[in-house]
Amino acid sequence: MDLSIVIPVYNEERNIAPLYQKLRDVLRHTGKKYELIFIDDGSTDNTFLELKNISQKDKQVKAIRFQRNFGKSAALSAGFDNVKGSIVITMDGDLQDDPGEIPKLLEKVKDSDLVVGWRYRRSDTLWKKLPSKLFNFLVTLFTGVRVHDSNCCFKAFKKKVVDNINLYGELHRYIPSIAYWKGFKVGEVKVMHNKRIHGKSKYGSSRLLKGFLDLITVKFLMQYSTRPMHLFGGVGLILSSLGSMVIVFLYLRKFLFGIRIGSVPYLFILGVLSVILGMQFVSLGLLGEMIIGKSRIKRYIIK
Ligand code: UDP
Ligand code: MG
Repeated sequence: MDLSIVIPVYNEERNIAPLYQKLRDVLRHTGKKYELIFIDDGSTDNTFLELKNISQKDKQVKAIRFQRNFGKSAALSAGFDNVKGSIVITMDGDLQDDPGEIPKLLEKVKDSDLVVGWRYRRSDTLWKKLPSKLFNFLVTLFTGVRVHDSNCCFKAFKKKVVDNINLYGELHRYIPSIAYWKGFKVGEVKVMHNKRIHGKSKYGSSRLLKGFLDLITVKFLMQYSTRPMHLFGGVGLILSSLGSMVIVFLYLRKFLFGIRIGSVPYLFILGVLSVILGMQFVSLGLLGEMIIGKSRIKRYIIK
């Protein structure tokens, strides 16, 4: 198998048939042996019926159906678990990503491990485009990956990248950062972006705050996931040391000058609190180390 196309769909009944037609036309011309893997992410409309009809007629089409809506990351992850192709392409199932751009992605992935689409003329509302600009700026600032459109679903992966990315929650927006952190070469290519004709967008503005929290998660995973003690222990030691110094200072004052420790109550409380808080941070770090020591996460990737 040369190529696997992974497409998460959630209530996209009217997009399935036209998308399938377009994909077939484009893929026929590439001459590659391919499979289309649709993941129905718990749709409540006729999306799965459409997929079933197509997959019964065309053996290159597979449909996976979720019990409920588990989200796009879970859907992509289910797709990745089932791909057979040496190259994997992911795309949205709402016809906003144009199948005609697939050859471009295939060409570019020859000299990268991951190619990320850049919707340079994005056909969405300003309300969507502006936060996206801010989001991408922060992603580059925090994680160091230099792409314009991290959240663009249109991507091409070498199989080894897919095998080494563990998606959960809503981390699909950070695939380029995660791949970059794991040492893969990340490239970029401009892609066309169409207006959504059928169905509704599934994401509102609540993704801004959630996205920012996820950014902290990704940053933490990138830097400390295999050495949590360096973060928590560091903070803990600083807090404990500051607290201890305050307490020592108060005692010295008492013995040398006879000033009561309780004469500045807030300072004493601050000192004790800092020591306790610091010790808790250190314990948190140790707990993290114990979890990592026991977990079976891969600690390296072989080139
Ligand atoms: N999607 C999904 N699960 C969800 C939400 C969305 O599989 O919980 C799919 C959706 O069907 C579409 C793609 O993810 O194929 C992108 O979603 P959408 O078009 O709503 O996002 P937008 O383009 O508005 O950012
Ligand atoms: Mg869309």
